[in-house]
Formats: sequence, C-alpha cells, structure tokens
Amino acid sequence: MNAELISVGTELLLGEIVNTNAQYISTQLAVLGISVYYQTTVGDNRDRLLSALSAAFERSDIVILTGGLGPTADDITKEMVADFFGLKLVRDNESEQRIKDYFKRINSNAVPSNFKQADMPEECIILENNNGTAPGGIIEKDGKIAVFLPGPPSEMKPMFEESVFPFLREKSPERLYSREINTFGIGESKLEEMLKPIMTGQTDPTIAPYAKDSGVMLRLTTKAKTEEEANRRFDPVEEQIRKIAGDIIYGYGAEELQDSVYKLLKEKNLKIATAESCTGGMLGEFLTSVPGISEFYEMGVITYSNDMKIKLLGVSAQTLDEYGAVSEQTAKEMASGVLRVSGADIGVGITGIAGPGGGSEEKPVGLVYVGIADSKGGVECRRLTLAGNRDRIRRVTVKNALNAVRLKIADF
Ligand code: ATP
Ligand code: MG
Repeated sequence: MNAELISVGTELLLGEIVNTNAQYISTQLAVLGISVYYQTTVGDNRDRLLSALSAAFERSDIVILTGGLGPTADDITKEMVADFFGLKLVRDNESEQRIKDYFKRINSNAVPSNFKQADMPEECIILENNNGTAPGGIIEKDGKIAVFLPGPPSEMKPMFEESVFPFLREKSPERLYSREINTFGIGESKLEEMLKPIMTGQTDPTIAPYAKDSGVMLRLTTKAKTEEEANRRFDPVEEQIRKIAGDIIYGYGAEELQDSVYKLLKEKNLKIATAESCTGGMLGEFLTSVPGISEFYEMGVITYSNDMKIKLLGVSAQTLDEYGAVSEQTAKEMASGVLRVSGADIGVGITGIAGPGGGSEEKPVGLVYVGIADSKGGVECRRLTLAGNRDRIRRVTVKNALNAVRLKIADF
C-alpha cells in the first residue's frame, strides 16, 4: 500500500510556516509500513488543488490532505475532495451541534460561516475535532482513500492519532520493523564493501549502513505483521553479517560501547582500571556514565605530567627519556602500572597528542597509544593516528579504547 500527502496552504508556499504536518504524517505512515512516494504542497487555489488531487490518485492508493478546512473563503480542501469524487456536501447535524457547543464553551458566538465546517461530503467518515471546530474526514471510494485533516498541528495530530492511525492500521496490517546493529572499527565504505555479497540483491530485509559518531550502524528493515515475524527475517541476515564482520558488532539500538563493556565486565566478573593522559579522564567519564559500573570499575587516574606517571604508575624514567611520553612503551607501562596499583583484571593506559600544538614530524597531532594490560600477564598496545580537532581526537580515542577493552574482555 502506498500513500501520498498534499499539504494545502499558500502560507506554506511562501515559506511563512514550516510543513511540520507532512513530516509528522510521514513518520506515522512509516510506522504503519505504508510507503510514501510523493509529497505535494499546493496553495489555496481550486484548479491547482484539483489537479494535485488527480495526479496523486493516479499514483497512490491513499491521499492525505492537511489544511484548508477552516470557515473562510480560502478554505477549499473539503470542497475539492468532494468534487474530485463527485460527491455533494451535506450538513452534518452532529458536527453542527459540536460547533455550537464549542463556541458556547469559549463564550463566543458562531457566525454562519463557522457552520460551513459542518458541511461534509456524503458517504464520508467524519472525524471529530476535539481541539477545534473543523471536523476531518475519510472518503473511501472506488478503491481510493482520501483523508482530509485540519491544518493546525494541535488539531491534526490528535485526530491522526485517534482516528486515522487505527483506520489505516486496519487497511494495512503490516508494520515497518527495524533492527539496528551497532558496529565499531571499520569505516562505512569499507564495511559496505565487505558486506556486498549480502547486500547485493538483499531486498527483504533491506540493509542500510549509517555512519554514527561511534562507528557504523547497520539498519535492517522489513515489513511484517508481528515482531516475531520480523525477527525471523532479521536473524539469518544478522547471522551472515556476523560471519563476515562478527567482532565489530558491539550492540543494538541505543547501546553504546561503554554499555557493551559494562555488560561484558559483568558477565565475566572482571574489574577494570584506567590511567589517562591526553583524554583527561574522559574514558572514566564514559565508563561511569553506565549505572551499575561501580562493581567493576576500580579506579581511574589522570597522569598528565611525566612525574606523576612515574610516581603514581611506576612508569620508568628511562622509558620516558628514551621513547617519550607519547609512545607504545609508555602506554603499556601506564596500563601495567594502573593494573598493579588497583589489582584489577584489566588496566588501560592512554597517551597521545590531542593538539592543536605539540606535534612533530615523528609524532604528529592525532598520534595516540592505547595500552591494555591484563591480570594474566598480557600487555598490548594499539597505535591510533586520528584526524580532527582536539575534541574529536580525544573523543575518538576514548571510543577506540572502549572498543579495545570490549574485544579484550570478549576473549578473556
Ligand atoms: P483554520 O480553521 O485554522 O483555518 P485550516 O484547516 O483551514 O485551519 P489552514 O488555514 O490551512 O488550516 O492553516 C491554519 C494554520 O495551521 C496555519 O496558519 C498554520 O499555523 C497551521 N498549518 C497549516 N498547515 C500546516 C502544515 N502543513 N504544517 C504545519 N502547520 C500547518
Ligand atoms: Mg484556514
């Protein structure tokens, strides 16, 4: 089933108001699994509205119109829809009464034109307006469905939610479901390349990659009657993705890398400690943003100066002399140091050049080392060469560190 929208109003064409109605209705139709292929905006003009309606019904089963249901002469939507279907407008007594009551409630008097709003196309399902005076309507005729709704969002939205959504759900029992798979470690283009064998020709569910701040999210989407049915389609595709790029997957939906780290720490009952230089505690901040981490996060130190790296972490002066503070050796010794001091199972050491100054040809801005030491005696280090400003370099460093920790714990 497909639908299209016609937003009526010269104000929209003049740019005086933003077409939030179209945006709202489109997101709702997506939820219902009804495809929207066109959105048209047309002014308060009879001929052009009629031709927009004809064009829309040439292409679509459902046309949803908003705006132009008011009492004034330029409000012509209902009339044009009735014209299009060859229906007469007839006075709806209930709507008339409702308008009378409405004016009584706001202590005002209705003028005759207000009752124009009670004139509805014959054979029309009338949608009560609990937030204004203009009723909306649904006409179902010759396999086509027209829905017309008032322009003010405060009236349109509740009407859509209360009446139109349930009506359309009946018509289209399928909904759009998606599964968002979060990955970290491989860029969008490369990932797409790797997944090409799966993605080519894959139409249900569809697979779409989206670059996010922390990696790439793969969104699987399908239309299904139930969540179970959708999951039955997602599972084998996820399985295939895991076969190709398994260990880059860290979670689903809103899950972040630190959430994944927390889950794994808990699952394996391991403790972590961190020693940071250029990230100034940001790794600790990310970890402590997860509720419940206190059972697993032993300590975090910021050792910015060489002295403190020596004094608190036991980094050797010789290492600092020979290789410098930003070096693989220092990162490893920071990781081992904080592991020793804390008695944790995993120690992380971060040192790098966040810029903008301080870089050299040998050690440019964006060079970062992430050391990871574990209680089994292993020490490893990742060398990152990151681009961007100070803020980005620091943030991406932390994400990389979290990802390294995640992978470390996974095979602990
Ligand atoms: P009224 O009874 O208020 O005249 P109406 O159904 O005739 O309602 P319009 O006259 O087209 O609707 O628009 C009334 C107001 O509703 C506009 O001034 C605007 O604030 C809002 N509106 C109309 N269309 C849209 C839209 N597509 N997106 C957001 N707001 C809209
Ligand atoms: Mg109006």
